[in-house]
Amino acid sequence: MKYEAVIGLEIHVQLNSATKLFCDCPNRPGDEPNRNICPVCLWMPGALPQLSREALEKAMLACLALNCTIQPESSFDQKVYYYPDLPKGYQLSQHHKPLARNGWVDIMGLDNQLKRMRIHHIHMEEDVAKLLHETEGRTPITLVDFNRAGAPLIEIVSEPDMRSPHDAMEYVKALRAQLRYTGAAECSLEQGTLRVDANVSLRPWGSDLLNTKVEIKNMNSIRNVGDAVAYEIVRQTRCLERGEPIVLHTRLWDPEKRVTTAMRGKFEGPCVPDPSVARIVVTDAWLHAVRERLPEMPAQKTDRFMTTYGLACEEAAAMTAERDLSDFFEAVAQYDLPPRKIAGWISTQLVPALRERNRNIDRTHLTAQRFAGLLTALESDRINTQAAREVLPRLLDNEASVEELLEKGDFGQLSDTADLKALVERVLADHPSDVQDFRSGNAKVLGFLMGQAMKASRGKANPKRLKELLTERLS
Ligand SMILES: [Zn+2]
Repeated sequence: MKYEAVIGLEIHVQLNSATKLFCDCPNRPGDEPNRNICPVCLWMPGALPQLSREALEKAMLACLALNCTIQPESSFDQKVYYYPDLPKGYQLSQHHKPLARNGWVDIMGLDNQLKRMRIHHIHMEEDVAKLLHETEGRTPITLVDFNRAGAPLIEIVSEPDMRSPHDAMEYVKALRAQLRYTGAAECSLEQGTLRVDANVSLRPWGSDLLNTKVEIKNMNSIRNVGDAVAYEIVRQTRCLERGEPIVLHTRLWDPEKRVTTAMRGKFEGPCVPDPSVARIVVTDAWLHAVRERLPEMPAQKTDRFMTTYGLACEEAAAMTAERDLSDFFEAVAQYDLPPRKIAGWISTQLVPALRERNRNIDRTHLTAQRFAGLLTALESDRINTQAAREVLPRLLDNEASVEELLEKGDFGQLSDTADLKALVERVLADHPSDVQDFRSGNAKVLGFLMGQAMKASRGKANPKRLKELLTERLS
């Protein structure tokens, strides 16, 4: 039988508000353990939580960015369970009345068609403490760090609209891009400020059934999300083929072994309305004020980049995927350079170089002015592409000006006709049999001879001029 996967994602995002959700402790979980704590976030009996307005407004921004409807009234519940990372015995979360409902993001499907992924709702909740498992001598012990306890989270619960690992990865990417634009969250899977739980079930192809699902946790990269979902689809298919029933439980993705392993039966504790946190009432005026703070979002910006700068759809989408990159593109485009050239260099040269350094642009020495300087030198044929590629990393890593680097590095392009002609003669003399080949009709040899000539010029020949001269000499 052919099966179809039904995938829904529950995504926790840590908001980057200055304080925790219900107290004034700094929202910096990475600090030295148990530094950022008070009676409220140690969950002492009797300490009264007070909702942070900043965290709430950042949550609202996130909801609006994901096209959700903010509810006029929402409130907190106590989600009851006991675990060492939650000693008070319940987590403040919004179960009955979430902050927002009915959102969506668009993704590009495998068939290159836009596909709308619906969001069921978004609710706010407090994070739990962090457990550190260590050993003391030969005794395993567990330490509790409360820095993260009470950190502001939103949980984004999708509809089960995804059908493949591709859909799941694209959904996380789209959602992350939207949220980062708002400035309300960093959304790093690696740092744990965005955590993905996937619910995966199978059904016979073409049916509308929703079968028992299995939850997978612990994916700390987008790639891992795709791999874990793919693994789970194969695992469940084999179970069904063997006639084994699927039971509701949670599995952990093991990135080393690349398998999911059973963790525990899924436990759902009761949720009871919390009496201490005031309910949230959002007036139209307040909603309007928050909406005003929403920046131009990636989809609108993509359209604008196509009309304003003449970029193709894919180029524009690449330039607007991250807000800082789109700002950088626009800053460079202020200089007199072809926008498509700028976009091409950003995508193919700058982005890989940044990824290699694991840095954002603002954490390097590269400015729009210096990048424009490099591209101008390239455009005016002062240097060739090869030289520009070599200069770019230096612009990222140190402060020397483009001028200095070009002078010091001896990158000047060889464009002088007499010099280039001499170069061509030398290469042809060195490869007589290849010249013969070319003359007897093997056109591919031209590429080889070009390569030899570029090499002989140590990459400095003006490739356009060189090719003209070489072709001329051979014909
Ligand atoms: Zn606190």
